Amino acid sequence: MPELPEVETIKQELFDKILGKKINFLEIFTPELIKNISLGDFKKYIAGEEIKDILRRGKYLILKLKKASLIIHFRMTGKLIFAKNKLPPSKSTHLIFYFEGGDQLIYQDLRKFGEFKLSFKEDFSDILGIKKLGIEPLSKEFRLETFKALLKSKNANLKLFLIDQTKIAGIGNLYACEILFKAKIHPQRKTLSLKEGEIQALYQAIKEILKKAIFYKGSSLRDEQYQTLGGKLGGFQKHHQVYAKAGENCPRCKSIIQKIILGQRGTYFCPNCQE
Ligand SMILES: [Zn+2]
Repeated sequence: MPELPEVETIKQELFDKILGKKINFLEIFTPELIKNISLGDFKKYIAGEEIKDILRRGKYLILKLKKASLIIHFRMTGKLIFAKNKLPPSKSTHLIFYFEGGDQLIYQDLRKFGEFKLSFKEDFSDILGIKKLGIEPLSKEFRLETFKALLKSKNANLKLFLIDQTKIAGIGNLYACEILFKAKIHPQRKTLSLKEGEIQALYQAIKEILKKAIFYKGSSLRDEQYQTLGGKLGGFQKHHQVYAKAGENCPRCKSIIQKIILGQRGTYFCPNCQE
């Protein structure tokens, strides 16, 4: 699933391609992806409008238009492809935006769990998923003291805390595993058990892993999953230390990386150097 670094990469790439451009019209092949508004109104607020701004909040991509904002969540396998010419039709193509000048933005989604909504509020608070989001981990508001207060708000399982979107926005299963490995902390620790030095290491690891992943344009684990706008793979998977590496040697201490299930998701860690 695209997490913060992947959605941020898509956002940055879209800036160069569609900012200030007008959407002439759109084709919708899978109406059930449009969630909070009728198909007619969805088209009415988008067709003929210019892209005023492009934002990201957590794992949400936001395209600001004149009277509404288009909110996209990619869920498991959603992706956007930018094309100068018409691409051959694919059965996973569900929506196409046609821009002035002929450019197209194509939404593909193998499993069709993605969501399109329109927001009519400046702060997007009419979209419940966004209203409930916690702090952005790469914002200047995310200070060490803020992080400590969040950790102390509840004695939660640490890995589940990291992927809780209402606490910190944008971290999912993959990056939680890599962050905990970097901080040398076991995923089954409780938030209240962390010592001062561990909290600092975790805080630094969150920022460093997310920034590095954005630098490498996100992680692509399988071809059908996340791609950049141009249809290329991200590059951060080459820098993964533990994620999806059960049975391999830990790059730090050579112990065998293990997989456990936490919150129904595969969780990878080194039992020797993550305490
Ligand atoms: Zn190790």
